[in-house]
Amino acid sequence: MKSQDQSSTKHFDSLENPPQNKFEYVNCYNCNNDDFEILLIGQDDLTGKAGNFRYVKCNTCDFVYQNPRVKAEQIKDFYDDDYIAHDRNKKKEGIKAKGFEHGLKVHDGKKEKIITDHYNVTDKTEILDVGCAIGTFLLHMNKKHNAKVSGVDFKDISNYPEAAAINSYVGLFYEQDFKDKKFDVITMWHFLEHCYDPKRTLKTAHDILADDGRVFIEVPRLDSLTYLLQGKRWPGVQAPQHLTMFDKKKFIEFCEEAGFEVEEYMAWGAFPAYFYIYFGFLFRFWGGKGILLDNHFIPYTLGLILMSPILLFEKWLNLCMQTVVLKKKK
Ligand SMILES: [Zn+2]
Repeated sequence: MKSQDQSSTKHFDSLENPPQNKFEYVNCYNCNNDDFEILLIGQDDLTGKAGNFRYVKCNTCDFVYQNPRVKAEQIKDFYDDDYIAHDRNKKKEGIKAKGFEHGLKVHDGKKEKIITDHYNVTDKTEILDVGCAIGTFLLHMNKKHNAKVSGVDFKDISNYPEAAAINSYVGLFYEQDFKDKKFDVITMWHFLEHCYDPKRTLKTAHDILADDGRVFIEVPRLDSLTYLLQGKRWPGVQAPQHLTMFDKKKFIEFCEEAGFEVEEYMAWGAFPAYFYIYFGFLFRFWGGKGILLDNHFIPYTLGLILMSPILLFEKWLNLCMQTVVLKKKK
């Protein structure tokens, strides 16, 4: 066992994490071997919480994962109110609020388009969003297509009056009791890379998918242009919330091993690539001190306007995202 020798432990100890950070040593999520090389040391660039988080690449199968990783019971400390996915119900005022709301609408519309390009959504379609946060995407699909919508997350949204249409499951996805319910469309928008057991997650999705259903998964793409340019400050590292990072090859293999067939692979996603371009370079400059999203509204918007001619070609540039459409292997 090469990696558990003294040099690996010493390397990690030398990162001097604050005592409140609780770690656990893990084997490769993909092949269960314990033999790796260090890929990078990430920091919490988004909120600036202290810590140095090590990501390694498996020498047997090339899978990239956080090791040692922050223990599951502690990870919630790294999701605070400024974390973007959970920031949606905050009351904001004026033009910022309008801009933010518009951004979310565009985002949900892009997700919808990816789905309707591959599945005929009707009022009979059962949609499950894994990691649904406060459910804006599900509400969008319910409103536009009258689809039946369910969501899983740690946050209980069942008491939000505006989320009444959502059948809400609270807790870990693979520990839910779905009884015999099957879903036609299962979505994971930036969920899998946060998951402590991505294999079990994909297996669970396979079990509860209707025979002619589709699974849509979007994750950051490690072998992309922004990672190449931004390295450990790449927003796709998002330490320590991201436990795994996928390149194209590994992502496809991982899905296929769970019993899926890839119907389509896309080197882009619903999430705006510009976010990665802007914040990745900002993180490089700012170096792990954390940022307040609110302060970036104007420069972000100006940059977006300047870059818009390039972003028209987003789907062909392999900037940062990847999305797969999966069906059950026949
Ligand atoms: Zn491996």
